[in-house]
Amino acid sequence: MNKKTVFITFICLILSSFVFFVGYKKMDNPQELYRVYLKGETIGYIENKELLEKYIDDAQIALKEKYNVDKVYAPNELDVIKEITYNQKISTEEEIYEKIKDKSPFTINGYKITIKGIQIIDEEQGEITTEDTVVYVLDKELFNEAVKNTVEVFVSEENYNNFINNTQKEITDVGTIIEDIYIKNEITIKEGRISTDETIFTDLDELNKYLLFGTTEEQQKYTVKDGDVISDIAYNNKLSVEEFLIANPEFTSASNLLYEGQIVNLGLIDPMFNLIEEDHVVEIQTQKYDTIIEYDSSLLVGYEKVVQEGVDGTVKVTKKVQKSNGEIESAIIATTEIVKPTVSKIVVKGSKVIPTVGNVGVWYWPTNKPYIITSTYGWRWGKLHEGLDISGTGYGSPIYAANNGTVDRAGYTSTNGNYIYINHNNGYYSIYAHLASINVTVGQAVSMGDKIGTMGQSGYAFGTHLHFGIYRGYPFTTGYSVNPLNFY
Ligand SMILES: [Zn+2]
Repeated sequence: MNKKTVFITFICLILSSFVFFVGYKKMDNPQELYRVYLKGETIGYIENKELLEKYIDDAQIALKEKYNVDKVYAPNELDVIKEITYNQKISTEEEIYEKIKDKSPFTINGYKITIKGIQIIDEEQGEITTEDTVVYVLDKELFNEAVKNTVEVFVSEENYNNFINNTQKEITDVGTIIEDIYIKNEITIKEGRISTDETIFTDLDELNKYLLFGTTEEQQKYTVKDGDVISDIAYNNKLSVEEFLIANPEFTSASNLLYEGQIVNLGLIDPMFNLIEEDHVVEIQTQKYDTIIEYDSSLLVGYEKVVQEGVDGTVKVTKKVQKSNGEIESAIIATTEIVKPTVSKIVVKGSKVIPTVGNVGVWYWPTNKPYIITSTYGWRWGKLHEGLDISGTGYGSPIYAANNGTVDRAGYTSTNGNYIYINHNNGYYSIYAHLASINVTVGQAVSMGDKIGTMGQSGYAFGTHLHFGIYRGYPFTTGYSVNPLNFY
């Protein structure tokens, strides 16, 4: 070996050992790392256990402060174990902390309250099933207090307290006795650890708002203009007056005065539970007289004479009313007692044939009397109720043609049940729905006051009632609905 060869061999040796050394470092050098297990599953490796613990501790401190609690439970079944490993895939402590939080949130002691959804029936749209509502609170009393506040939105505090304390006044002449108040939904309260990822209510106002509106978001507002009245603001914003008053508890009735610049709430209420109130009511009702037109073929066309003036009467009515979240759901007249009899107005008209054209100014009430209007014409639950719901005269009681005309349609649909359309041949149509029976056929001429069917509960309907609508033009298509009460 010459000097040169020795030198090259030496260099080669150094180089190869260097390569070997580098290779060894890259491939096989074991490291001391921490393997993080969550519920027995590896979620990654970190270098600094203390740093991960600090992330967790800081989060716990922040949550303790946020909820004002002594104990915040870190994610369950978290194990951090030291390992000598060849695995080089290291996560940052923050990445691992975020993964842990996503998979297993921090928990605190509290209550999970489930308000079971109940099926509600919507007369025009068919059946709707409401979803369960889950509310998390730290203090059960906060929930109880919020329920009480929500109940008092629908039942005045005074009436509610009198009912609870059994101190309601007996009815001597007229008045209302609350027979029962209850929440229809099943409510379960479970104590235990609740996730801090959920919305946990700690503020009474926020929870009140949630139980009433179904959201804690800011409600839509309106600034009152000169001349505004509550009923118009409500109608223009698709609210019933009752809904408006609930969203604006500072007002007690639609006749309350507003001032220019005043800000009112336009939130549509969506209560998280159904409060049922059963009332026994005794009241004096005014009974408007009917107008009866008698046609006489021996008299000249155009002859018209009032032979008897109408006189309004009064009747004492005892009724059972069931309300759901403040709105009448069903009403039954138990007894009636005539205080002052009603006298019909009778008009004699000369006519060769009985006309099928309706009178514009005179309409016949479509049910027996006395009756209860359980739902008026107007906005309700964000939809326009295009007619009156009339109840109280009993299943099978007669339904009368509201005016002269011809039967345009008669049949059955799953929402309207048995229904009749009458074309009054003067631009107006009237419709009658949820009938027990239909006593007319399409094309038949009817006079105002003729019996056309009987009251029932067919189709989607709460209790026995007549849905009565009047349309200018063809119902639901080219025509538009009008408030039937404008005609009586
Ligand atoms: Zn209706």
